[in-house]
Amino acid sequence: MKQRRPLIAGNWKMNGSLVTNAVLLSELQSGIKNLSASAADCDVAVCVPAPYLAQVQVALQTSSIAWGAQDVSAQAGGAYTGEMSVSMLKDFSCAYAIVGHSERRVYHAESDALVAEKTLRLLEAGITPIVCVGETLQERKAGLTEATVARQLNAVLSVLDAAALAKIVVAYEPVWAIGTGITATPEMAQQVHAFLRSQLALMNAELAEQVQILYGGSMKPDNAVALLAMKDIDGGLIGGAALKSIDFLGIIAAA
Ligand code: PGA
Repeated sequence: MKQRRPLIAGNWKMNGSLVTNAVLLSELQSGIKNLSASAADCDVAVCVPAPYLAQVQVALQTSSIAWGAQDVSAQAGGAYTGEMSVSMLKDFSCAYAIVGHSERRVYHAESDALVAEKTLRLLEAGITPIVCVGETLQERKAGLTEATVARQLNAVLSVLDAAALAKIVVAYEPVWAIGTGITATPEMAQQVHAFLRSQLALMNAELAEQVQILYGGSMKPDNAVALLAMKDIDGGLIGGAALKSIDFLGIIAAA
């Protein structure tokens, strides 16, 4: 068994409807019950579009599947049209929220500093942040993978105290692998995961060993086993394959 409990988190992005979500959630619940006992050693979560938080809260409250949001505001409340606060996520019992996804960084110009602020707000509210980092293809080709993920991660670490380290989840998502069908090889991913853990260890070596570092970017049932077998890959943040119960359950079974 792995030293860290694996976490398989779905990122539904802007997909779903009341009708299709109900089907997917019920298939996931019955599918998880039918998996072998070892699958119980894995944490499972779905991060859904905000309008569906009420639906997942009702559907999943008696299940082992946790739920969360895909973003949160760094502000506590007030005149911020379109934003949602941590207290709103608390109202719907979110266990997790993704912050700093590359789609937010690119399409909404989110800075490293803003991602750090959001992480803090979540921690203050007792919600686990899933902090995404990852390089673009250009950055990888220029040999800037480590520099990029270190900059993104360290912006977050710089606002945390060491004790908070064990309360975050990190997701390594190479931008070139997201939604493209191209996956980092297990060795490529492991190298970056080990590097990220070494960055965490600079803050507190013992707690760094407890942090779940997820891989994200075209993870599917057929590549999940090899990725999850790597020493520092502690789970997955799953986009496309989280939308079909057979695929998501296949990844959970691989964990
Ligand atoms: P993907 O997305 O699995 O569709 O590549 C992962 C993510 O962006 O979180």
